[in-house]
Amino acid sequence: MSKSKNLSKSQLERMRADLERRQHWLLNASRGRLDTPDAEEADRAGDEADLAQVALHTDLALDARARESREVQLIDEALSKIENGSYGVCSECSETIPLPRLEALPFAALCIDCQEELEATGALATPSQEFKLD
Ligand SMILES: [Zn+2]
Repeated sequence: MSKSKNLSKSQLERMRADLERRQHWLLNASRGRLDTPDAEEADRAGDEADLAQVALHTDLALDARARESREVQLIDEALSKIENGSYGVCSECSETIPLPRLEALPFAALCIDCQEELEATGALATPSQEFKLD
């Protein structure tokens, strides 16, 4: 049943260390941003253009924080998969996710095929849509 391409114990330990390091970093980064003076800037802003600018700025900061907390959540899921032995398996098609992909994206829950399919159907936001202004 299990395929020969499953990760070895030492590879799993390495991924776990990477994930935990990244999670620590993300948690520290989002704590640091709580101190930014966005609210103060909004109080001082004079005209509507400034207000719009500050609102946009705040939106982007919130956006980044939402992405970070989503990533923290994905890392949590990856860590519990390492615990229960299902790490490195695509949650859509149950194929083994190749190690190079996991090294590039340790919390990947999908293989590249499934990821691309979801992006193509619009189920996942692609980075090119994020800063679209019109
Ligand atoms: Zn898949």
